[in-house]
Amino acid sequence: MRIKEVGEFGLIERLKNVLSAEIIGDDTAPVKHGKSTLLLTTDTMTEGVHFLREYLPEAIGWKAVSVNVSDVVANGGYPKWILVSLNVPEELELTYVERIYAGMKRACTFYNCEILGGNISKLEKVSISLFLVGEAERFVGRKGARPGDSLFVSGTLGDSRAGLELILMNKKEYEPFELALIERHLRPTARIDYVKHIQKYANASMDISDGLLSDAWHLSERSKVRLNINTEKLPLSRELKLFCEKYKKNPLEYALIGGEDYQLLFTHPKSSWNPFLDMTEIGSVEEGEGVYVDGKLTKPKGWKHF
Ligand code: MG
Ligand code: MG
Ligand code: MG
Repeated sequence: MRIKEVGEFGLIERLKNVLSAEIIGDDTAPVKHGKSTLLLTTDTMTEGVHFLREYLPEAIGWKAVSVNVSDVVANGGYPKWILVSLNVPEELELTYVERIYAGMKRACTFYNCEILGGNISKLEKVSISLFLVGEAERFVGRKGARPGDSLFVSGTLGDSRAGLELILMNKKEYEPFELALIERHLRPTARIDYVKHIQKYANASMDISDGLLSDAWHLSERSKVRLNINTEKLPLSRELKLFCEKYKKNPLEYALIGGEDYQLLFTHPKSSWNPFLDMTEIGSVEEGEGVYVDGKLTKPKGWKHF
């Protein structure tokens, strides 16, 4: 059997069996260490899969750090230490690599974490893997959603996918709102401003990297609850609305299945809503199973690697 026949999540299930591990399934792996909990996570960005060579190298570095920080933040922690595993072709310009690192350093300054070391190896394509250690007072995973909770997301959804499509259009000129969407795809910001809120109030939390619907399914399966999403409430940016008007697209499709937003999906009682954060109540948690959109049962759909 080949990987593409079982898909990314099928492969993960097989590897769990090899490791006989029960812990895989959250955005980070929590490890108790003294009084605190360390959060371990790793994510790779590969040329041709996650980015193109012609992207701004600083943005590639920024994003490599941000996608890892996003997982730590989702579990209620702050990022601390990073190791970088870099694969590069021999003929690559030195300055290209230096600029990727300048982007990573900039992101580390922003998120308050540090690159402590790593490894470099040869490959035909540029590929960057980060291993990040974060720290949390309390681990908040995908498991704790309770019937009666409300379902929330941070920020707006669907912008990143619209930005990617705009990049692939390869236009000579872009309008300002289009550039804003492209920026959101190339340079996402992990929601580090949510750590205290998640830490204090969330019963379950994860980041939205594959797309809301696909990620909501993961949360629903881990927590063994039914999630209801109300599409009228999905937070859409002004830029995404303009994009959808201009190119005759359905914004809900972008919000539901567009990936790489790196926003947070979390649950807690409605009463813990924080007016100082850009959070939106998009639905509710009930007893049962599955993800329902406007009352209809859905199938998990989103970004899959294979
Ligand atoms: Mg994640
Ligand atoms: Mg990860
Ligand atoms: Mg991730």
